[in-house]
Amino acid sequence: MQSVHLDWLERAGIELALLRLDQVDALVSGNKWFKLAPYLKQAADLGLEGVMSLGGAHSNHLHALAAAGARFGFRTVGLLRGEEQDNPTVADLRQLGMQLHWLGYGGYRRRHEADFWKHWRERYPDLLPVGEGGGGLPGAQGCALLVAQIRGQLAGLGWSDYQQLWVACGTGTTLAGLVLGEDGAHPVVGALAVPPGHGVEEQVPELLTEAGVEASGYRLVDASRGGFARIDPELARFILDSEAESGVPLEPLYTGKLLLALRDEVAAGRIVRGSRIVAVHTGGLQGRRAMQERLQELAAQRE
Ligand SMILES: *Cc1c(COP(=O)(O)O)cnc(C)c1O
Repeated sequence: MQSVHLDWLERAGIELALLRLDQVDALVSGNKWFKLAPYLKQAADLGLEGVMSLGGAHSNHLHALAAAGARFGFRTVGLLRGEEQDNPTVADLRQLGMQLHWLGYGGYRRRHEADFWKHWRERYPDLLPVGEGGGGLPGAQGCALLVAQIRGQLAGLGWSDYQQLWVACGTGTTLAGLVLGEDGAHPVVGALAVPPGHGVEEQVPELLTEAGVEASGYRLVDASRGGFARIDPELARFILDSEAESGVPLEPLYTGKLLLALRDEVAAGRIVRGSRIVAVHTGGLQGRRAMQERLQELAAQRE
């Protein structure tokens, strides 16, 4: 955990600490590692040789899986959305030893159908299939451990407590895990990286109910700025300025949008002076490499 200095926080009398999951390992980065860990244990317990999973061509999840396979010596297969392409993420996946299959767009859309995995299970009987992004209750439970990690590091910041815990949401699995870990101790705020109505509102209570707890202790704010992966000039400028000021690298899909949504809440006076906030830096920086130029172009544009 690291305390972060940004002008707009200081002026509002609010302190922010980031849990830097982008720094847990040189290769295996971000919340995706915590979502994956329970599945890796399942695969090991079943005596399997490795794991296969799904994602897009910039997927942080497939990147973490491939990196974990390389780090710990198990086999990985990635089923990718769309037609074969090259980008820094795909180059890493290959280099990390992941075997890739490109499913096209239609083929990828079939992933929710009941018999989707049948073919892949037959082809790879020694691999554990894991759904997109490492979702599901095991993925959430892997993230519940983060709350203990936060608690253990508060003293190092000179903090005795905090008032809110913030995290960016794609599917809401990580958020559900943090709610489980908090068990009511602190409210968790989920900053939606996908627009409202794209499943997080249902997914989080479903996971909490499946875990046998009440679906409460969190709220959602719309951080999506009109679309998942949509980047506008204000966001691009905010990211580049915040990075320069704080020294913390961000990316525009999740962590940049999270901090901008936090700034908007602070500006709207919805967070009281004297508050201490913990936000999870969920990583994803590998995906930024393909976007650097675009960020700079957008930041240079006038409103
Ligand atoms: C996947 C991802 C998220 C969202 O996690 P969910 O558990 O799907 O809500 C947030 N930040 C980054 C960097 C991610 O890669």
